[in-house]
Amino acid sequence: MKYSNRASLKTNQSIIHIDMDGVLCDYESFLNKKILEGMNKFQIYQIPGVFEHLEPIDGSIKAFQLLDKYFDVYILSTPMWSNPDSWRGKRIWVEKFLGKHAKKKLILSHNKGLLKGKYLIDDRVANGVLDFEGEHIQFGQKKFSNWSKVLTYLFEKEHIPFQSEFF
Ligand SMILES: [Mg+2]
Repeated sequence: MKYSNRASLKTNQSIIHIDMDGVLCDYESFLNKKILEGMNKFQIYQIPGVFEHLEPIDGSIKAFQLLDKYFDVYILSTPMWSNPDSWRGKRIWVEKFLGKHAKKKLILSHNKGLLKGKYLIDDRVANGVLDFEGEHIQFGQKKFSNWSKVLTYLFEKEHIPFQSEFF
């Protein structure tokens, strides 16, 4: 536990927010599979129990664990508005894949621009990402096409020693 008391949750570490779909977990593969089976997007959005079963994106779990050592890490995601079950599923996924302590670091919001922080790792610019006060690292774009590239960039920029356990 990084906090000295519960009245203030500030730490001396920089805040970093990480998006879920397309960054930590692979919603797209699930979506494509269902489209191939003949469902449309809106039908797929209604399926209960989806979010807790998504596969992690390659390297995302290890990357989260490493970042968590050096940053005050939050998981920042926008749930499916038409599917209240996605709130539940995201909460379950976080604890299942990122560990018990991560469940208190989950932020669900449709306005990511409201959050404080130094970095936001997100594959899209929707939901207020462009209003975020810190640096947006756009996961999936050429410069940040995978977790290895993202970590290399962040560790170099923040003068964090090379992490052989990841690379
Ligand atoms: Mg996303």
